[in-house]
Amino acid sequence: MKLKELHLNSPYLSLPSLCYDRVKPTPLLGAYLIHANSDVAKMLQIDKEELDTEHFTAFVNGALAVEGSDPFAMCYAGHQFGYFVERLGDGRAINIGSVATPQGFLHLQLKGAGQTKYSRDGDGRAVLRSSIREYLMSEAMHGLGIATTRALALVGSEHSVYRGEWEKGAIVLRVSPSWVRFGTFEYFAHHKKYKELEALVEYAITESYPHLVGKSNAYLLFFAEVVSKTAMLMAQWQAVGFSHGVMNTDNMSIHGLTIDYGPYAFLDEYDFRYICNHTDTHGRYSFGSQPAIGEWNLRALMKALSPMASEASMQDALMAYGKLYTEHYLYLMGKKLGLDKLEPNDIELIRHLLGMMQGLRTDYTLFFRTLSRYDGDRKALLGVGLYHQPMHDWLDVYDERLKKNETTTEQRHAKMLKVNPKFVLKNYMLQEAIDAAKTKDFSLVNQLFKIAQNPYDEHFEYERWAGATPDAFKNKKLSCSS
Ligand code: AMP
Ligand code: MG
Repeated sequence: MKLKELHLNSPYLSLPSLCYDRVKPTPLLGAYLIHANSDVAKMLQIDKEELDTEHFTAFVNGALAVEGSDPFAMCYAGHQFGYFVERLGDGRAINIGSVATPQGFLHLQLKGAGQTKYSRDGDGRAVLRSSIREYLMSEAMHGLGIATTRALALVGSEHSVYRGEWEKGAIVLRVSPSWVRFGTFEYFAHHKKYKELEALVEYAITESYPHLVGKSNAYLLFFAEVVSKTAMLMAQWQAVGFSHGVMNTDNMSIHGLTIDYGPYAFLDEYDFRYICNHTDTHGRYSFGSQPAIGEWNLRALMKALSPMASEASMQDALMAYGKLYTEHYLYLMGKKLGLDKLEPNDIELIRHLLGMMQGLRTDYTLFFRTLSRYDGDRKALLGVGLYHQPMHDWLDVYDERLKKNETTTEQRHAKMLKVNPKFVLKNYMLQEAIDAAKTKDFSLVNQLFKIAQNPYDEHFEYERWAGATPDAFKNKKLSCSS
């Protein structure tokens, strides 16, 4: 359909008024379209031809309201680095409305569209570099089959935004089946607004877990499902080597999605202790800590839900987290290793592998992609780590283990190449795209978008992105300022 035929609803506005604040977007000066995602447009039933039009750019810039739009910012709280902040909220994200699709509502949000009641001291803006990062990375996670919010489009602008130096503002039009965060519940629990809390739980159940509607113990089941979704997500992050960087409870999705892309990173070299966020001095959100932090955050959610459901029962549900996480992680790692069936001892094989990778500082993605073509000839794999003996030791064990497989080597290769990506968007790649974009050259944004969408394909024309990260750019930290 044409943009002007689009009709937006706002189911969130049926919640009590404390849950949100109506606010109009403040468009950027001199906005221009950098990229639009035709797959997401299709989900929203927007014609592809519409994406090249001026009114589409105006729409993403918050300068064109479509029918039914009633924009608002959502109120939430959250634990930031373990400390409770009693009011956060959408400080620079403005919800412009929701599109009904056969799979349920998709909620549209403009990130960087100006101040809201929840902006605190912030300017409500997002800069070009962080917007490119969010835009590309959400598509990359989707391409990898990991639950995430997505984006319809990215606009740049001539609008100056100060972040220690003058930069340009940008807006990402983000799309998600849910924007509700753990911190949203914490807000109402902390302020003892139990009527609102209950309405929010009902809303989240209808939105994200509709099969629970009307069940007698729905609130407990709801919590148990969030536990399970979070465990699955953490297992996926760990298996693919994704570090979120800011796992505050306000950045945790009740729908089990990866949300709020900030100083995230894909591992370059495997390092369990890697900290991607420059402000995370003590490594609370280090790569290896993520599964445990997932559980910590669920406990904060459980406390917030305790006026609604028995804490003892929720505690039992939370107890399942470790097992759910471990089982799913091992399942994913088994697939990455091309094992037909997991066996109890495989946990040792995986531990041995990770220890070897940590010691050799092996490029995580390249190792698994190379392993996906392993046929007994070790040359290519040995080239991935500098020191050979630990790799030989592990491959000796792996060779033995592969003997228990029933699939042929060719079948194993074919399967492994579908689960071990050739490309992940490492920070040095994103930085190169950002540096070019600052000179208005968006060719690298376009390239990275293509490999993000299909990370398991060969894309021989983009071979240079498939190797190990150049030494100068390995395992760097990123600043949060965005
Ligand atoms: P984040 O770490 O990006 O998830 O942000 C944490 C909180 O700070 C959220 O409530 C954001 O909306 C808010 N925030 C971050 N940057 C800005 C900004 N430039 N202007 C207003 N609010 C912001
Ligand atoms: Mg956030």
